[in-house]
Amino acid sequence: MEFKKSHKLYNKGLVNLVGAVNSPVRAFASVGGNPLFIEKAKGSKIKDVDGNSFIDLVLSYGPMILGHRHPKVQKAITKALKNGYSFGASTANEIKLAKIVCDAFPGMDKVRFVNSGTEAVLSGIRLARAYTGKDKIIKFAGCYHGHQDSLLVAAGSGLATLSLPGSKGVPEGAVKNTLIANYNDLDSVKAHFEKHDDIAGVILEPVAGNMGVVIPQDDFLKELKAFLESKGALLIVDEVMTGFRSKFGGAQELLGVEADITCLGKVIGGGFPVGAYGARNEIMENVAPLGGMYQAGTLSGNPIAMAAGISTLTELKKQNPYEFFDKVAAIIERSLLTSAQKYGVELTVNRFGSMINPFFTSKHVTNFEEAQSSDTKKFAVFFWEMIKNGVFLPPSQFEAWFLSSALSSKDIEKIKKAIDNSMEAVSKM
Ligand code: PMP
Repeated sequence: MEFKKSHKLYNKGLVNLVGAVNSPVRAFASVGGNPLFIEKAKGSKIKDVDGNSFIDLVLSYGPMILGHRHPKVQKAITKALKNGYSFGASTANEIKLAKIVCDAFPGMDKVRFVNSGTEAVLSGIRLARAYTGKDKIIKFAGCYHGHQDSLLVAAGSGLATLSLPGSKGVPEGAVKNTLIANYNDLDSVKAHFEKHDDIAGVILEPVAGNMGVVIPQDDFLKELKAFLESKGALLIVDEVMTGFRSKFGGAQELLGVEADITCLGKVIGGGFPVGAYGARNEIMENVAPLGGMYQAGTLSGNPIAMAAGISTLTELKKQNPYEFFDKVAAIIERSLLTSAQKYGVELTVNRFGSMINPFFTSKHVTNFEEAQSSDTKKFAVFFWEMIKNGVFLPPSQFEAWFLSSALSSKDIEKIKKAIDNSMEAVSKM
């Protein structure tokens, strides 16, 4: 397999782009080698500029849940394009997508569309503060909530990949109201409440996907919600990754928990830049123009993005692929564990719906510290063997693999074979 054209583009990109990428997670920083440059994608597959074809388990880090260029989505976008790209005024499709989203989340009467997951969360946090009149927010180590200043501490995703504890350029003042707790550890949340009486709420990924997949244990979320209610603090659930992916009603539907504020992104835009935050009326009425919390956006509710979101969610609801996802994830899990055992590689696999990933550790992974015990060098070897065997994975031990409903049984067989070959390569290190 050759990567000559990607390599050439990488060197060219280094001149005017930082590290030749527009998001550090694309940089192959922890697996070595140069990033792949993509030419096109269709269904379950993605093709690089050298003509190499891969089964895509990155899926743009989640949005492409139907696979690439689903005909219905493509048709809706093409139709929308004919009417214009942006108006700075309202359109009927914003109301349509808002209804689909609010119907999916019982705790959401109103929603506001923004342009990314980062914007969704920073607005959700501002809203929690506006509603409660309190400043402090608790976040969990290893959870990633976008690149807003106040939450760039002990964060997962690219920061975990690059081993960064936080970000330069974030002033101390911006994080002084951020408290860190341990995932799956309610006592670590309670300890903060014993010390502080100005906590607005707790934000979390209901199923973490940014330290690898880490699943909430037992009734962690339910107990957290009950505790927060007793303290008059809000539960802010960041479903940017899990929304419409774990279930149509997100991880909340599967786990039986209702957020006070829900943040969304990725799947709701079907591959276009859309984020959203929503809550019940009494909370959302604090947002301008109804209330005094200001948040705005020139391109928010963009007509092309709304058309992509509506068609993606409508098709997703029709397909209802959640059982299929569970079955495929179980097959991949079995394949990973069987090959690991066969070749004597220490491995733990976590999965939740259509999110799955292996950790190269013997530890049971329930939090960031345990995830960090993984052998990232083994992951790097595994990653490149998977590439050579035609499977595109996120280039980091600390990112989830995503499944699309476009996966065929042939694709699944190919993934299994790739896993076996790659695990054998790891055992020979
Ligand atoms: N929250 C979570 C849970 C995420 O996974 C991400 C992105 N991976 C974000 C927020 C930020 O979203 P975006 O990259 O669209 O700004």
